[in-house]
Amino acid sequence: NANIQLELRFMDYGKENILLLARDVSKVHRVEAMRRDFVANVSHELKTPLTVVRGYVEMIQASEGDFDPHWQQAFDTIEGQVSRMDRLVEQLLVLSRVEVNTENDVKQPLNVPEILSNLLNDAHWLNQEKQHEISADIDESIGVLGVDTELKSAFANLISNAVAYTPANGKITVSWQRFGLKAKFTVKDNGTGIRPEDVNRLTERFYRVDKSRSRNTGGSGLGLAIVKHVLHHHNAELIINSQWQKGSEFSIVFEESSVITLN
Ligand code: ADP
Repeated sequence: NANIQLELRFMDYGKENILLLARDVSKVHRVEAMRRDFVANVSHELKTPLTVVRGYVEMIQASEGDFDPHWQQAFDTIEGQVSRMDRLVEQLLVLSRVEVNTENDVKQPLNVPEILSNLLNDAHWLNQEKQHEISADIDESIGVLGVDTELKSAFANLISNAVAYTPANGKITVSWQRFGLKAKFTVKDNGTGIRPEDVNRLTERFYRVDKSRSRNTGGSGLGLAIVKHVLHHHNAELIINSQWQKGSEFSIVFEESSVITLN
């Protein structure tokens, strides 16, 4: 069951000189698969104890006991941290699911305008405190072939990042339009922006530009890694345009072969 990677190289010093390299990458793939399984198993095992701790903290808070303010603060902190861990574990499970090669996943016709409209209702809810102005420019006639849960999570990640990294009263625009024969989803914000040297690393697992601030946003550092894998399965491309302290634009471009016209 060897996994051989072949590479053909034309050498500089003579047209007749061709080098064929054969590399056995089966071990690399095996180790990578073990890592994924391990992460998935650990995440799964962490879910139960977390649910128990969360249940007890919620029970204490609902008991309306006359607690010393110190205790009240401690319960609030425990609840906040348990929620954070819960989200992290959830994201780790999603990542280990999308990291595996799921080329055989059945792709279905998806009504993207409907998916976006549902997500935007959530984003409005998320953004109440910050009072962002969110506008949408959606072409109702475009759908795509895809895996429902995966694409929803990719769109949701980009929208929630725009909300998280845009200060109060900022502007966020979501668009879904034809792009020649392709289709393009874009989230544009006028938030913190990203320095050019960071842009290429954003889709790495746990990569965060500003660790302390990102932690405050409640993110996991896994969102864009998930997006990258999802798009890989969909033969779609992620394009990031960002200007430090001006804002960012994250786009997903779907190939013509995935685009469908909705009635
Ligand atoms: P997180 O859970 O930290 O948001 P992501 O993988 O979704 O993780 O994003 C990785 C990092 O990319 C974030 O920590 C943040 O620094 C940066 N980032 C993502 N989206 C934006 C955005 N719209 N504006 C500015 N920075 C962003």
